[in-house]
Amino acid sequence: MILRIFGHDFHYECENLCRVWFPNEKINIVYDNSGNDAKEVVTRCISIEGGNRLEVFVSLDGKEKSLEAVVTAPESELRDKSELKTAQLIFEAMSELTGYTPPWGVLTGVRPSKLMLRLIADMGEEAAMNYFLGSLLVSPEKAKLANTVAKAEEEIVNLSDKNSFSLYVSIPFCPTRCSYCSFVSHSIANSNAKKMLPEYLEKLGEEIALTGAVASELGLKLESVYFGGGTPGVLEAPQMDRLLSQIENNFDLSTVREYTVEAGRPDTITPEKLRVLKLHNVGRISINPQTFNQRTLELIGRNHSVEQSLKAYMLAKTYGFKSINMDLIAGLPEETFEDFAASVDTAVALSPENITVHTLALKRSSELNASGAGVANGNTAKRMLEYASQVLTGRGYAPYYMYRQSKCVGNLENVGWCLDGHECLYNVFMMEECHSVLAVGAGAVTKLREPNGTNIERIFNYKYPYEYISGFDKITERKNGIKSFYLSY
Ligand code: SF4
Repeated sequence: MILRIFGHDFHYECENLCRVWFPNEKINIVYDNSGNDAKEVVTRCISIEGGNRLEVFVSLDGKEKSLEAVVTAPESELRDKSELKTAQLIFEAMSELTGYTPPWGVLTGVRPSKLMLRLIADMGEEAAMNYFLGSLLVSPEKAKLANTVAKAEEEIVNLSDKNSFSLYVSIPFCPTRCSYCSFVSHSIANSNAKKMLPEYLEKLGEEIALTGAVASELGLKLESVYFGGGTPGVLEAPQMDRLLSQIENNFDLSTVREYTVEAGRPDTITPEKLRVLKLHNVGRISINPQTFNQRTLELIGRNHSVEQSLKAYMLAKTYGFKSINMDLIAGLPEETFEDFAASVDTAVALSPENITVHTLALKRSSELNASGAGVANGNTAKRMLEYASQVLTGRGYAPYYMYRQSKCVGNLENVGWCLDGHECLYNVFMMEECHSVLAVGAGAVTKLREPNGTNIERIFNYKYPYEYISGFDKITERKNGIKSFYLSY
């Protein structure tokens, strides 16, 4: 696709918006008339007396649409208003030519609920809703969703204070690699990765000790612990036991409100591992079927069966965890609306305390997605999420957490739904950046939040386990950044 920019600097917004309809298309931004492509978007901003005249021309495989508008505003507001108007014109033209009207309108940011919360604080709820509907062109259903989630998140954010922090532990290993995965995670089916795991855990233990010492020296208060990945469930029961003991030995867990281990793949779950998790007071676990359609599981490279998902859930239920989460994904390859609806019905019939409904993201680094072949289109994915919303609401689940990713099918969203009192606090703390997250392990990113302000600083660990192991000295050096950050405020 060619995106032509004349007379303005809104190229970033225009590019993001074009990607909503064409997530896999390479977008060439040009500032002249060079080149040609069957898909072309031309945007022009012309200065006129008291404002700007904006022109948008879209041509998609022979179908064309031209739109224009005049924006008048004081000088200080003119640029932003012109940018928004250009986005609205692109939205109108693209929606008409493609037959898909994205329900999030021109909103391309990843945290609509955070924006909603800020707007409510600035202008009040009614004006914030009107801005979502009238200016950002968000559908009434999604505006309501953003509003509901914003309120739920606010309550959780308010639990946090200036000394709060959460701990994230990264286990970037999985039984096999799913075709849609864009995370750095090694399949332990590969013998090198399997061999690396014990050494990885050694270093991880060292980093846990180091991080615990810093947290204690700074007098920080631990609110939540989250094991993610990857699939923490790939650890054998004794490895898990040792790791969880290391957490206990190095952190004061007396203030912890929530302890989550994303067990992840159903095929990793055993009675021994569940016993270990329970013994160490883990309260929330995730068992992620993604779909209850056997053919899809095979297609996406998840080496487990529907039967295993059901059995793992039933087994975990007998251990009395406070909350069990199940992840589902809308838009998986070859899945029809009916397939997805059946997965939602199955999950709801099991009544886990949390159900997180993701929309497939077409990431370049995943196996599946160079072509996006067989993936649901925007209109089907939209119907899938509408169905999930209707069924979950009917069964007493409420949305409490939401984020979006770039390249999500249909520019849709991921929503955490829960039964009353079962919100995953860590998800909200992390997404809303209301306190620091000290993160350990390969691929982990420590996010430091200024205790009395909003400044955020990040410390990156090495991405891959082999780099993490070989460059561990560097990691310990970087960890000093936590102390320097806090002492600078
Ligand atoms: S289980 Fe999750 S992290 Fe592991 S390969 Fe699949 S999508 Fe990636």
